[in-house]
Amino acid sequence: MLDKVLIANRGEIALRILRACKELGIKTVAVHSKADRELMHVRLADEAVCIGPAPSAQSYLNIPALISAAEVTDSSAIHPGYGFLSENANFAEQVERSGFVFIGPRAETIRLMGDKVSAIEAMKKAGVPTVPGSDGPLGDDEGDNMAIARRIGYPVIIKAAAGGGGRGMRVVHTEGHLLSAINVTRTEAHAAFGDGTVYMEKFLERPRHVEVQVLADGQGNAIHLYDRDCSLQRRHQKVLEEAPAPGIDPKARAEVLEACRQACLEINYRGAGTFEFLYEDGRFFFIEMNTRVQVEHPVTEMVTGVDIVREQLRIASGLPLSIRQEDVKLNGHAFECRINAEDARTFMPSPGKVTLYHPPGGLGIRMDSHLYTGYTVPPHYDSLIGKLITWGDNREIALTRMRNGLDELLVEGIKTNTDLHKDLVRDGHFQQGGVNIHYLEKKLGS
Ligand code: ADP
Repeated sequence: MLDKVLIANRGEIALRILRACKELGIKTVAVHSKADRELMHVRLADEAVCIGPAPSAQSYLNIPALISAAEVTDSSAIHPGYGFLSENANFAEQVERSGFVFIGPRAETIRLMGDKVSAIEAMKKAGVPTVPGSDGPLGDDEGDNMAIARRIGYPVIIKAAAGGGGRGMRVVHTEGHLLSAINVTRTEAHAAFGDGTVYMEKFLERPRHVEVQVLADGQGNAIHLYDRDCSLQRRHQKVLEEAPAPGIDPKARAEVLEACRQACLEINYRGAGTFEFLYEDGRFFFIEMNTRVQVEHPVTEMVTGVDIVREQLRIASGLPLSIRQEDVKLNGHAFECRINAEDARTFMPSPGKVTLYHPPGGLGIRMDSHLYTGYTVPPHYDSLIGKLITWGDNREIALTRMRNGLDELLVEGIKTNTDLHKDLVRDGHFQQGGVNIHYLEKKLGS
């Protein structure tokens, strides 16, 4: 087992990783910016190192500072969490070159999946269903591009190969707008990601977002941990997730789960990962893979009983997977509400001092949060302050527990989006299950 892990992240996920390390008897190093001295995991870690000033570029994204912190603390591995440097292949490479274990896939896998064109190509080869599209980057020939769009059929979407975070995409409804849309997306992609490569896909009009969690040890073993539905999104940001995805065609689902498992073996995947799909009319279409632990991983943990971060740490220690596919059993249903420090109506961030924090409790309730009474939420980072996760024997019980949990949750001194969640979990369509990715924005009238 790894001896000492440096946690290259902050907030709730840093605390989540710290807890998994403690369970496995692994020593922990917290790194933090000057604004983050008061974070809960910094208090709880065996050692703590300040890596720079508040702005992420100078702290959590500062590769030399992170590697020096690993050196001075004699750490054996670095866990990147999610966001920040978690999907940065150069970081993974530098970590390994400096003699530390990167807790995640090999750098070349991160690179393969970070470029959406190569990711789609690899998935197609492995038998994962993809969105009908250009099958590769778009060239400069206008006639060719028009022919591709006609073959796919309008509406189409132009996407940046290097895109992320919902940026670098443009929907085109008619041929008259195609060429200018390609040019604009290319220019934007170049400016935002330093890579102007774009490709084309069929634009699906009412899909759901359904994703598949996988674990693989890079030693010839891979399993899937079933699926999650993350269709409730605002501006491409997930708001509320559940596992398993309700009302999915059983045959399509069985096929896609197995295809993901096979794809992991094909690319010799190592670590935890997520295959993201759009799901429409009973069919799955791959859009991208995330090569890291995801914010919403707890819903999968609740319905499978598998501790995903623990498995990441075991895999990084060189151990084979501790579970076989036939041992993974779905049990009940789980929801997760992302609690953000923001105004529930305007969505403006609301940093500041938390004058009272009272998390909900009871059977089937889990609160992953770094908050405590007296903690000050700094203005420099994303607004996620916790995740309320509930489990039940069935969807209805899990949802009832979520309603009650949200009522019990008290965060005073700052604004939170709790009222939005209270409204959502009482929404008739959401209660039925299976709303599409536009539902929340339509409901909000934005
Ligand atoms: P990012 O890496 O920026 O998150 P994705 O490829 O995951 O980009 O797409 C983000 C979101 O954009 C999807 O969740 C979906 O809402 C929308 N989207 C992407 N591709 C399509 C498509 N072919 N049809 C319809 N919507 C799409």
